[in-house]
Amino acid sequence: MLKHARTPIISILVASSLSICGARPATADSKLPDPATAGFAEKLYRLDCGHSLANDESVWTPGENVGRSIEFSSTCWLIKRGSEWVLWDTGVPQATLNDPKGWSTLPRLIVYHLDKTITGQLAEIGLKTSDITYVALSHTHGDHIGNVGLFPNSTVLMQRAEYTWISSPDGTNDNVNQLKALARKLLGTPKQLQLVDGDTDVFGDGSVTLISTPGHTPGSQSLLVHLKNSGFIILSGDVVHLERNFEKNIVPSLNTDKAMSIASMDKVRRMIATYQAKLFINHDKAQSDALRLLPAFYD
Ligand SMILES: [Zn+2]
Repeated sequence: MLKHARTPIISILVASSLSICGARPATADSKLPDPATAGFAEKLYRLDCGHSLANDESVWTPGENVGRSIEFSSTCWLIKRGSEWVLWDTGVPQATLNDPKGWSTLPRLIVYHLDKTITGQLAEIGLKTSDITYVALSHTHGDHIGNVGLFPNSTVLMQRAEYTWISSPDGTNDNVNQLKALARKLLGTPKQLQLVDGDTDVFGDGSVTLISTPGHTPGSQSLLVHLKNSGFIILSGDVVHLERNFEKNIVPSLNTDKAMSIASMDKVRRMIATYQAKLFINHDKAQSDALRLLPAFYD
């Protein structure tokens, strides 16, 4: 089980590789929960965390749709488990709200827009940012960590491999260097940062599990959520951007590791079979638009 959010973390260097309590391994993926005995989260809300227009879809679908524009959704998720709340990703920076110029991580490629704030959406269901126990980050691209600074009292959960990567010296790829610099700026220095290594059971009961799915970035992760009525749901992070990429095993050209990306998609496929899970794909606008939006929720 993770340390309680209010426990101060003295140093990110000693932030633990977290122990797993209570979850019996059911599959070869040994730290994953047993589908028969996993606990439940009560509610899963989708937040609108922005949308974007990219001028060349083929960056995400190499060899296909070259030069064609594509619109993506940006999605955050909020999970209620007992009296605790987990926010999965934080979306496009709130300063972008209603700015006609939008905001960008890579200005020549993609521009993001924001119609609603996270704080406004939390307020719709009576929550303040200080009510959020954990802010879990799928990875450190700016459209996922744009609002981490709004949650100074929450415990930020991310893979150690991701933190190590953005802290590493620049390489030869300017796009990657630019994304890493932006990540360091947006992440800042969270007061409570917990770095995890691989699959990690957040509450120790199999209700909410961080799933290591590297490849898009070195420490990318997805999230497995167990609900009473809806069953298991996998929140993709950016393990895949579009349903058809998942079907055809297509890896975006901006991913840091193609083989890891394919292995992570395979892992998600195995998990969908093991858990009879649904996969909610963060950036797939057609899919996202059809899902319930806060104040509606999955339970
Ligand atoms: Zn990304």
